[in-house]
Amino acid sequence: MIRYTLQCDRAHRFEVWFQNSAAFDEQVTADQVSCPDCGSTAVEKSLMAPGVPKKAETVGPREFFNQMRAFRSHVMNTTEDVGGSFPTQARQMHEGEIEHKPIRGNATPEEVRELKEDGVPIAPVPPEPPSEN
Ligand SMILES: [Zn+2]
Repeated sequence: MIRYTLQCDRAHRFEVWFQNSAAFDEQVTADQVSCPDCGSTAVEKSLMAPGVPKKAETVGPREFFNQMRAFRSHVMNTTEDVGGSFPTQARQMHEGEIEHKPIRGNATPEEVRELKEDGVPIAPVPPEPPSEN
């Protein structure tokens, strides 16, 4: 896993962990990375960090799906499924009412919008990639 400092088009800076640099490229291209402050998916690596010359790299679909699967299982293994109480718990953690812990669960688009408006840092669980067959 590598950590990138990202910046959205409104100049919010935030840090995100990725499986590797190819996973970063794919997820940003697919608009799966959004700013926790404003929800913008127009994000790029912050220029704060020294740039490393990047070799052009081609990732085939199989590798991409393997990375997606690995990232998804990482999320699944490191978070607790709290189901429908996700919006409530995420908000309570944000407001310091309950202890912080990594959780995942369900939220309606409306609840997601409200959480983002209130500045609660949430991110979508990576989708299940198509199976090999
Ligand atoms: Zn932003």
